[in-house]
Amino acid sequence: SMASPALLMRVVASAYSVAEKAATIVRNVMSAGDLGIVEKAGPNDLQTKADRLVQMSICASLARKFPKVTIIGEEELPTDDVTEDLIEDGHCEEILKKPCPAQYTGIKEEELVIWVDPLDGTKEYTEGLLDHVTVLIGIAYGGKAIAGVINQPYYNYEAGANAVLGRTIWGVLGMGAFGFQLSEAPAGKHIVVTTRSHSSALVNECITALNPDHVIRVGGAGNKIIQLIEGKASAYVFASPGCKKWDTCAPEAILHAVGGKITDIRGNSFQYNKEVKHMNSAGVLATLRNYDYYASRIPNTVKESLVP
Ligand code: AMP
Ligand code: MG
Ligand code: MG
Repeated sequence: SMASPALLMRVVASAYSVAEKAATIVRNVMSAGDLGIVEKAGPNDLQTKADRLVQMSICASLARKFPKVTIIGEEELPTDDVTEDLIEDGHCEEILKKPCPAQYTGIKEEELVIWVDPLDGTKEYTEGLLDHVTVLIGIAYGGKAIAGVINQPYYNYEAGANAVLGRTIWGVLGMGAFGFQLSEAPAGKHIVVTTRSHSSALVNECITALNPDHVIRVGGAGNKIIQLIEGKASAYVFASPGCKKWDTCAPEAILHAVGGKITDIRGNSFQYNKEVKHMNSAGVLATLRNYDYYASRIPNTVKESLVP
């Protein structure tokens, strides 16, 4: 008989199904119409019923299957028992059939850290910019983001009733990333993608210094990484604190799996061990190609304003 699949592949296969369940919850809360919005740090830092239910669903579902894995979710929630209807116990069979990269076959449960952003782009969700929203499940080992799942619950929502709504993108370092068409940004053009709801003087100063041909302002860290891997933008530039480890873990794994690069604005890589500080205090710089072009043009004054 076949050897049982490696733990990492079982976790990714389960995270895929858990993220699809999450997407259903995100859509159901919106169609039911009561978002239950709560302000966290302020009016630009929101939590909805979808953020709460999805985090409970993802964390409880993965914890039940993988009890020794450390799971860190964005939302601070009461530790009430999760209702059974929120539990997803399925997995993606296709992922389970793929061979685990050799360097990850020996990983044990207690060595994995899963970073969960139940709903990335909450501000945009509350404003009806639905395709900005993603569900992020990032998997880290040895402090590195090695695998990730990004579900986009409203992918295709403006494409008409015949289009399939929603998609799941996943990837593993050393294996690649799937569920989308990898595309290059237009050659010779500098298209910067950045925040739409968390701008600041420094964010704009940094973008201006890059002298881009075009700037795309959209919500969500997951959404902005999708813009890079689908060739809509050439660099994700965010010269501000605000983005956290659960925002970057899954996107980083997928971007790195297809040969891209993500760091803070000063060029430091992110760490994802369970003790790490949550805030990415020195911002984000990410590209699919030509990382050095953008990194070399970030002004020193901007770098010095951001302390990791
Ligand atoms: P954005 O590009 O503005 O959508 O931000 C990407 C991620 O970082 C989202 O999860 C935001 O909620 C988070 N984020 C960025 N800046 C801030 C901030 N100033 N306050 C709270 N969350 C932020
Ligand atoms: Mg987020
Ligand atoms: Mg969130």
